[in-house]
Amino acid sequence: MGLRIDEATFLERAISRFGARYDYSQMTYKSYRTPIKIRCVEHPVREVVITPERHLQTTGGCKYCLRNYRNQTLERVLRLDCEPSSLPAPPMPQAIQEPPVVGQVSNAV
Ligand SMILES: [Zn+2]
Repeated sequence: MGLRIDEATFLERAISRFGARYDYSQMTYKSYRTPIKIRCVEHPVREVVITPERHLQTTGGCKYCLRNYRNQTLERVLRLDCEPSSLPAPPMPQAIQEPPVVGQVSNAV
């Protein structure tokens, strides 16, 4: 074992990973494996209930962000040479990673 992550350690890791993307002020941290409620700063209408462990292992747990992220990834693939990449890609855990859809190019201008 030896995997003991207390609240301070969790916050430190979460913030180094996500910066200010999530609001942790509402959470009640009990343990690394006990679900907490956090709030996505961009989509505050919906609380994210997730274990600290999963929060650190995934893109954060907000389904809206995840959907945006997928769309962005798809768009980046489609217009790879149209736009300089202004945003660095956030770390993408393997659990959620999907291969880009090839051959399904929309002709939207
Ligand atoms: Zn979000």
